[in-house]
Amino acid sequence: MSTDAKNAIAQMEKIVSLCKRRGFIFQSSEIYGGCGGVWDYGPLGAELKRNLRNVWWNTMTREREDVLGLDASILMNPAIWKASGHVDTFADLMRECSLTNKRVRADHVEQQEGVVMNYSGAQSPTGWKLSRPIAVLMKKGEHIESLRKRVRTLIASNAGEAAGKVEEIELLDEAKGDTLEKTIDFHPETGGALGEARPFNLMLKTYLGPTATEADVTYLRPETAQAIFAQFKNVYDSSRMKVPFGIGQIGKAFRNEVTPKNFTFRSREFEQMELEFFIKPDEAVEIISGEVMAWSEGADLSEPKPNWGWQMWHRYWVDQRTKFYEGIGLGDVLEYYWQTPEDLAHYARACVDILCEFPFGTEELEGIAARGDFDLAAHQSASTKSQEIFDEELKNAAAKLSDEQKEAFIQKRLAAEAAKTKGQPMPEAAVRAWFERLFKGNYVPHVIEPSAGLDRMALAVIAKAFSETEKVDDKGKKEIITVLRLHPRVAPIKVGVFPLLKNKPELVAKAREVYALLKKHMNCFYDETASIGRRYARQDEAGTPFGITIDFETCGEKGPELQDTVTLRHRDSNEQERVKISDLLGKLLPLVS
Ligand code: ATP
Repeated sequence: MSTDAKNAIAQMEKIVSLCKRRGFIFQSSEIYGGCGGVWDYGPLGAELKRNLRNVWWNTMTREREDVLGLDASILMNPAIWKASGHVDTFADLMRECSLTNKRVRADHVEQQEGVVMNYSGAQSPTGWKLSRPIAVLMKKGEHIESLRKRVRTLIASNAGEAAGKVEEIELLDEAKGDTLEKTIDFHPETGGALGEARPFNLMLKTYLGPTATEADVTYLRPETAQAIFAQFKNVYDSSRMKVPFGIGQIGKAFRNEVTPKNFTFRSREFEQMELEFFIKPDEAVEIISGEVMAWSEGADLSEPKPNWGWQMWHRYWVDQRTKFYEGIGLGDVLEYYWQTPEDLAHYARACVDILCEFPFGTEELEGIAARGDFDLAAHQSASTKSQEIFDEELKNAAAKLSDEQKEAFIQKRLAAEAAKTKGQPMPEAAVRAWFERLFKGNYVPHVIEPSAGLDRMALAVIAKAFSETEKVDDKGKKEIITVLRLHPRVAPIKVGVFPLLKNKPELVAKAREVYALLKKHMNCFYDETASIGRRYARQDEAGTPFGITIDFETCGEKGPELQDTVTLRHRDSNEQERVKISDLLGKLLPLVS
């Protein structure tokens, strides 16, 4: 293993340990040995997640005039998942270990080096027998005895009690096979040969109602987006919004991931924050505005314009989401992966993955896709309920077009359909029917979808904030101090409030007063135990950006000018300033919200 890989593992171990020690994240069902791929958020983690959720909700809905919120159910009519394509195609290719039946995602198997060891089977004195060939990779540097022990242990854990004692299992007809340099055909953990790649649907099935027959099967939603599409018409009709506008939703999603890994990064139960931003088809924009603005490097994305087509809207949302991440302290660890035409789904026009630097690599945090009208059109066709909207302005503008101009629109679209390299081109009759509806002002909106994961975001901000510094105490002893440099907007505790000494009633009373004043407005923590340095250190490790100490000056012992002032300590700069109690709220509120 490379030094970088070892450092990454060590860094993740420190982060996982801090998360448990300080109550950010616990393994689910830990007292029963855990539950694969699911995690619980402790007191600090729950606050952190709530803050991230609030920042997303406020930025994406409340602070905008063109986005509304939705809170849909997790269980839905399974017809939704059929129409969306999830029942048929929401699958990962997975491969199974021939030794243990353990599955791994085909694209998660890294190249390995080693020698293939073959056995015709195995047996034990209990009379148990395994009568099929076994092939295992003896990894480079591994001793043959340790390989045999590993294989026996794996066989025994799979066979259960019947196989008897592990050390008494006999491996039959050992034979050395090929030496391989870059193989991806052996399970990364067990070393057992992998079978063919097979699709594995990621949706978690359940039953609705007491009879629990196949007819009652539904799914725990694998994404929040589909409910937005399914409720599009209700939101549109009840809100009187005009396209372009968006619907945002935050909620749980479930995926039976083949290989959950990297702590909470890939979980089986997680939370998504998704926006479906509905826009006019480019043809409608062109009819109304006379042109569709093309994107070029440096284009002004600050304010949406009526002549924006999907490309400008897509770029706009990438820009908005980047600003969002900058606002929670992740600006300098982002990268972008623009999917190539080969990567893109047939209906997608563009998709960019916003990636973030994690200790285990640079990985996806959010995807922003321009999905055309694929989703609403699919639900329109499967449900037979119209998902079209009527646009008066479009109808009026189209009424002014000559027949030649209308035909020119149709011809342009037919040429684009003919040039498609993926998916089926729309037949001419369907194109003409679509334009007929469009010229009357009717269309199914297109969509731009910024889709983020809350748990990944929480992990990203923790990983980015994690830092260690060496401190030498008065006696010269070195100590490693962990400081979680969380952005004040997302930090679970905003302020620690400390009386200098706990046995001085006047200090405690004043500190309690400050605590009561602040806690109505932000999450604060009152602490009077241990030395003041220790109390600062505890809050540094929890990511608290500010500390307030109430001392004798506060109580007026050093004169009236310092009376009712406190020391405000800034975690990141270690700067300390004297602030009037009456100024505290005004100073802190803008920094933490
Ligand atoms: P990946 O390629 O990592 O499996 P994806 O492209 O399938 O992700 P999307 O379907 O686009 O992911 O989901 C949108 C967002 O939801 C992702 O960017 C991610 O932040 C989050 N997400 C998806 N799957 C998981 C998961 N198993 N655990 C945690 N978050 C997830």
